[in-house]
Amino acid sequence: MRFRRSAPDRIVRSRTPAHPAIISVAEFTEAQLARRHRVNQSRVQAAPRVARSKRAYQLRSRIRCSGCQRRMQPQAVREVIYYRCRARDLAPASPAAAEHPPTVNLREDRLVPAIDGWLATLFDRENLDATVATIVASQHDANDVHREQLQQRLHAAEISVQRHLAAIEAGVNPHSLVTAMSKAHAEKATLEPELQQIPKPVTLTATEIRKLIESLGDIRTVLREGEPEDKEALYRAFELEVLYQHQHHRATISISPCVVTERVRRGT
Ligand SMILES: [Zn+2]
Repeated sequence: MRFRRSAPDRIVRSRTPAHPAIISVAEFTEAQLARRHRVNQSRVQAAPRVARSKRAYQLRSRIRCSGCQRRMQPQAVREVIYYRCRARDLAPASPAAAEHPPTVNLREDRLVPAIDGWLATLFDRENLDATVATIVASQHDANDVHREQLQQRLHAAEISVQRHLAAIEAGVNPHSLVTAMSKAHAEKATLEPELQQIPKPVTLTATEIRKLIESLGDIRTVLREGEPEDKEALYRAFELEVLYQHQHHRATISISPCVVTERVRRGT
């Protein structure tokens, strides 16, 4: 069995980064990004420069433009990597085109230190238990909302069928109910297989999650010293997502804990 990627609405969200027990989302505004950037700059200047030619786009496919919801495209300009979203690539008639600036730019080196700092905090010794607990708790939710919605609709369709049957038994002319009955039956026929297809909830124990996290290696060291390729792999393992709101210079960063389990296969 392969674990499914969690839907966006499954991601645990919190706006209070001071309480790691419920963090799966961090938000960085322009001021924070700039401050972290400066810290990073001084560190970069002190450290020997790594070969730029090997540089990977660590956040490739991970940043979404809030203006149009598309992935922002990486581009290196001299020494600096930007993620960009251009209005000219939008379909002219698309609703986003009206409000979209010609180009939305986000510098990678402003974002990466903020992301890495946040991830390092989540997985440090002090917060690991809380992070594991968050992941354990969040995975119970996987698909619950969707399943519940389908179940409610199915229930409503079944009740509708029963009511119509009761009406017929009570003497209502069946011909007058044909359309309504067919509709309710069709609804049932669609919903039942759809419900079946929703994966059964996967629940890993805290120990299993801990092993999964361990299988990612020394996260903090990778974040601190890893090559861009290593970090890209780590971000991928976390299904890291960034939503960039250019109007507020705000980046909302999330990881999807369920996806941490994607590497694991249990016997089927
Ligand atoms: Zn855009």
